[in-house]
This record gives sequence, structure tokens and C-alpha cells, in this order.
Amino acid sequence: MITSLLSSYLSFKFAQVSHLLETKIEFLKGVGPRRAALFNKELQVYTFEDLLNVFPFRYVDKSQIHKINDVRDETIYYQLVGTISNMQVHGSPRATRITATFTDVSGSIELCWFRGLKWIKNQFRPGVKYILFGKASVFNNKLNFIHPDIEEYNPQDVVIGESLQGVYNTTEVMKNNGLGTKQLAKLIKTLVTQIYNVVPEILPDEILQKERLISRSRAYYQIHLPANSTEIQQAVRRLKYEEHFFFQLRLFHNKKRREQQSRGSVFSKVGTLFNLFYDKYLPFPLTNAQKRVIREIHADMKSGHQMNRLLQGDVGSGKTIVALLVMLLALDNDFQAAFMAPTEILAMQHYQTFKELLKDMPITFALLTGSTKTSERKSIYNDLAEGTLQIVIGTHAIIEDKVVFKNLALTIIDEQHRFGVAQRARFWDKTAIPPHTLVMTATPIPRTLAMTQYGDLDVSVIDELPPGRKPIQTKHFYHEDRLKILAFMRKQIALKRQIYVVYPLIKESEKLDLINLQEGYESLLRDFPEPQYRICVVHGQMKAEDKEFEMQRFVKGQAHIMLATTVIEVGVNVPNASVMLIEHANRFGLSQLHQLRGRVGRGAEQSYCILITDRKMTSDGKKRMATMVRSNDGFEIAEVDLEIRGPGDTQGTRQSGQIDMRIGNLIQDETIITAVRKDVLQLLEKDPMLLQPEHYNTKQHFEKIFRQQFDWSRIG
Ligand code: ADP
Ligand code: MG
Repeated sequence: MITSLLSSYLSFKFAQVSHLLETKIEFLKGVGPRRAALFNKELQVYTFEDLLNVFPFRYVDKSQIHKINDVRDETIYYQLVGTISNMQVHGSPRATRITATFTDVSGSIELCWFRGLKWIKNQFRPGVKYILFGKASVFNNKLNFIHPDIEEYNPQDVVIGESLQGVYNTTEVMKNNGLGTKQLAKLIKTLVTQIYNVVPEILPDEILQKERLISRSRAYYQIHLPANSTEIQQAVRRLKYEEHFFFQLRLFHNKKRREQQSRGSVFSKVGTLFNLFYDKYLPFPLTNAQKRVIREIHADMKSGHQMNRLLQGDVGSGKTIVALLVMLLALDNDFQAAFMAPTEILAMQHYQTFKELLKDMPITFALLTGSTKTSERKSIYNDLAEGTLQIVIGTHAIIEDKVVFKNLALTIIDEQHRFGVAQRARFWDKTAIPPHTLVMTATPIPRTLAMTQYGDLDVSVIDELPPGRKPIQTKHFYHEDRLKILAFMRKQIALKRQIYVVYPLIKESEKLDLINLQEGYESLLRDFPEPQYRICVVHGQMKAEDKEFEMQRFVKGQAHIMLATTVIEVGVNVPNASVMLIEHANRFGLSQLHQLRGRVGRGAEQSYCILITDRKMTSDGKKRMATMVRSNDGFEIAEVDLEIRGPGDTQGTRQSGQIDMRIGNLIQDETIITAVRKDVLQLLEKDPMLLQPEHYNTKQHFEKIFRQQFDWSRIG
């Protein structure tokens, strides 16, 4: 009773205050409807709260006023007080430049504008004192100020002690409409001083104390109007913490919801098929890491909850056999299993591998891809629906609506980076009880990302390669080193090894890339003439059966060289291939390069990866080459890749680019994220539904920003 009274009182108070924060930006003093429209459109700022969350990207020190004849350095900021005269418009008939003279007691200096001229022209009045802030630059051997910040001088504005001023990003359109950094700073100052002491706290008290965080209102004040750099740091830490806190709260919440919601099929038996295969047909002893992950996966499948697990293992670590064994577990419990690969070639390869491994097993399985013939396709659909087909291996073709299973209980998705979260979910609709899902990836997920992007998945790691592998040697060459490389290739072929030569294929310029590939083919033919040498070619535009035919020539050792585009990037397994030569290597991303390199080094022979580029490269390109040469460690490579590209979107709709955070940074904030996760877990242990009154604001804020109820009890 008391609790509910208190909670309704709090809810009243919260509603009142949040109402103020949600005031339309139009009603801030100095904004009005016209500027509000600009705020909406240019900065996606609609409310007071949105504006509070526009943070300075740097700060400048304005505690000193300089004299014009002190100005000599081009790197530091100067603050001057003086008058503006002699304004001239240059260029006719359309103005292209405006100049003016700025004068104080010590001398004068030229000012210059190139943009927003219409506005500048009518800005300044003679005789009025202005305060100028900016960096000088040299023009015609003279120092001048280009686009300095200028406003009317008011001695009270220069306050020693409140010396750091935030600089804000605006847009060109805003600047041209009188909403430059300066004006923005002024509006934010108005807002902060007006409402900072009514900003409600949304983090639980115990967390504020434990993490020694300043209050939310204090943080907004200090980030916009700091007295010194310590205040900035305090504010940044608090606001970062807050952002990560709600992000993690959502991950845990969704995970919990999923667990409540989704019963999973129970695989209680380890039966005949698994044991038969394990004892009689397993081609090699499993590594300890492989055994461990099979145990982890099996534990999930017995639990009664739907499994959502990420299986991480560097290229060549042996994920395929794990997948196969896990599928046998499903079959032993009278369920069906599906295995999905990102490309047709890869699906075919897996099908071949399974066919070989399962040839003496009493199991039905089939390959289903976009190019499966209609009659065959019909019988696959039929057999899946009847349950007579136990395993289907394929591409996206297996998630089409037409595919219906009798009792699918396990889906395995290989090389997950090609599939989004949304596609994962499509399997869920295929049976009453959502199937267990195992996502396999060779791209190791850096720790911070695993905690965020994959925070809702459980993770298993194969951290051990099968015995007897030699590390691949990687070298970077320029085009002019080609003769040396050709000699090396001939030597390897003489040793009976096989070679991949890979060209980039990027969608926007497919035609051009095919020409590249064609030219590459012709020059390879000149250097490696038939019949002494044989070259096969595989690229994405070929018909599936031609692709398969060419692949098989290479797999069987009938071709010495396979010329290909990135269609071979993932999964292809030819242990006798010992050289991976990558043309225009700088056009590939790091994880792609690492994947490609993973195609060699699968046998006992020493293998090589040769990267060829122009001398001219971007600094990112150079960094990628250096990383590849230096490291064979997929984990390290993923870290660098993340640094260069930024993490992908959690929803899986974007492959690259930062997750949209206001101030948090998934790469840099590892320490904070670790603390946040611990705190969130503790909080939810104590108050899983956030029902206690002291967590009321936290819950409200969650529901507001995610437009989602913080509740999982009523589902399932
Ligand atoms: P990935 O994890 O990249 O998918 P694969 O499953 O294709 O790796 O395995 C790479 C190679 O290693 C294959 O030729 C496979 O037969 C072999 N392999 C897998 N596990 C073992 C093991 N425990 N001992 C020896 N070889 C293994
Ligand atoms: Mg694989």
C-alpha cells in the first residue's frame, strides 16, 4: 500500500518534470518556429532534452583577451576586442568574398568571409565593440582571420573561472541561417541555466554511489558549462555510463524475455546416430576445444530453453565437424536439422563434405539452393514437410516461405557475418517451438562487441587449431615485383601444390571487375601456358553448375591455379592449396583478407599468403596490409578491423559503421561497459522487474527511450 502510494506520487513528480524536458524546442527563448524547423531537420532536435544531448565536440579557453599586435601564431586561438570597419564585397555581379578591418588600440587585422555573405553583410555596425574569437591564417603574406566567431562585446560575458567554452557541431544550412556554433552555444547555455536543476535522476541511487557518478543534472551542466577539465571528465564519465547502462539493460531485458518466451525442444538422448558416427566414422580425434563446445551446445539443448549460441572459431579451427555432430544430436531425438550457408559454392562444399562423412550412415539429407531443379525442389519440400528428409543443407533458399518442416529443432548458420539478425529470426516462424540456433563465425568478436552487439547470444569459442598446422607466411608486394612472384608460384606448382589467385569484386563496378578478372586470366595463361599448367576460373556471375564444375577441377587436383573473385572467401576447403595470392589486396577489408588467407594452411605444408597492391594506398589500406603481414591471429585482426570500420549495427541491418550512440563508444569504453554489465546484473537480481519505487525513474526512462515495456512476466 505504502509502496503503491509512493510510487504513484513519484510517477506524478516524474511526469511533471519529464513534461518540462519534453517541451518543444520552439519554446526555448531565442528559438521560435523558424529555428525550430531547422533544429528538427538539421540536428534531429525536437525537445529540450534533445538539445541537452547535443554535446560539445571540443572546448576552448576564453579567459584571456589578447591585443592584435600579439597575433602571430597560426595554431592557437585568440580572443580580441575591437571595432569593425571598411567592409568590402568582392567579386561581381555575385559576391564571392567579404573583407573588413578589425581594429583595437594596438593595431588592426583583416577579417574575411566566403560563406553566408548575405548575412555577414548586414551584421556589424560601425563604432560598436565586438569580441572576436578564432585562429589566424596567412593570406597574401599577411595574417588574417577567416570566419572568426564574432559577437557584440559585453564585458560581463568574459568570466574568469568559467573559462572553458563548448564548441558545437552545426551544419552549413544552420550557419547560413544564423545558427552557427556560437549561437548554438548561447541557446544551450540559456537552456542549461534554465532547467538544469530540474533534470530528474534516472540511475538508481546505489549505482551513483557505488560508481561515484555525479547526478544527471550536474552532468548536463558540467558538460555544457564546465569550470575546468575535471568537470568535463566527470560529466563525460557519467553520461557515458548512463548510455551504456540503458543499452545493456535492454540487452539483458530482451534476453530474459526471449528465455521466458521461447521454450526449446529438449534433446534428452545421445543416441545411436551420434554414437555410431563418433565411434566408427569420425575421421580424426576431436581437439579438446571441439569437445568442450559440443558439451556446451548439448547442455543448452537439454535445458528446455531455446538455444541462441554463437560459435566462434578462427578459420580452419574445425567448426564443420562440430556442426555435423550437433545435427546428429537433433536426429537422435527425432527432430530435423537445417544448415544454412551464405553462398551457393559454400553450400555445395558443405554438402560434399557431409556426403563424404555420412556415406555409411543411415541418414537422409539434401542440398537446396537457388539453382536446385524444380522437380527436385518439389520433392525436397515434400519430404521436409513429411519428415522423411532429416537434414537440409542450403542457401537462403531454405528460409523461403514455401519451405515447411515437420519438426525442425535445430538451425545452424555458417559464417554469420553475411546474415543479419532478421534472417536468423525467420527460422522461428517455421515451427511452433522455435528451433535452437547455432551461429558459426570465423570472425572473432572483440570483447567489447561481444558484450554489446552479441550481448543477447551465448558464446562458445574453439580456441585451438587441429594439431600439425604451420602458421601461414604473409608477404606484401607491389605490382612491379611480379616476376619474382611468378617464379615463386612455378616453384610451388613443381612441388605439387595448388594456388588461389583472387580478384576483388565489388558490386558497384561489377563490369569493371570482370574485365580485371578477364585480363588477369589472360596474363596468367601467358605465364602458365597449357597444357603444362591448368587454370580454372570461378566468379559470381557464372551458372551454378559451371561454378561447381570448375571448383571440382580444383578440389580434385586437376587444375593448378584457381582464379576467383571473393566467392571463395568463406569455407572452401582444399588442403593441398598452399598459396593464396590476392590482387588489389588493399580493396579488401581486413576480415575478408583474413578469411581468404584461411583458405590455405589447411594441410601439413607450409603455406603462403601474397598481398599485391599499388604503391599508392590510403593510410587505412597501409594499415590493413601491415596488420595482415604482422598477425595470423584472427582476434587481433578483428580488433584492428573494428578500429578502422566501427562495429556493425546490432539489428543486423547495417554491416559497418558505429552503433548510434550519443557519447558512448563501444571500442574505447571497455572499462565502463564492464562495470555497467556487473551493475545491471546486480540490479536485476535484486529487482528483476524494476518494481521498487527507487527504480521507478529508471524503468520509466527505459520505456520512454526504447518505446518498449520493461516487462517479461506476462509473456509466454
Ligand atoms: P572452419 O572452422 O574454418 O570451418 P573446417 O571445419 O573447414 O574449419 O576445418 C578445417 C580443416 O580441418 C578441415 O580439413 C577439417 O577436416 C580439419 N579438421 C577439423 N577438425 C580437425 C581435428 N580435430 N583434427 C584434424 N583435422 C581437423
Ligand atoms: Mg567453415
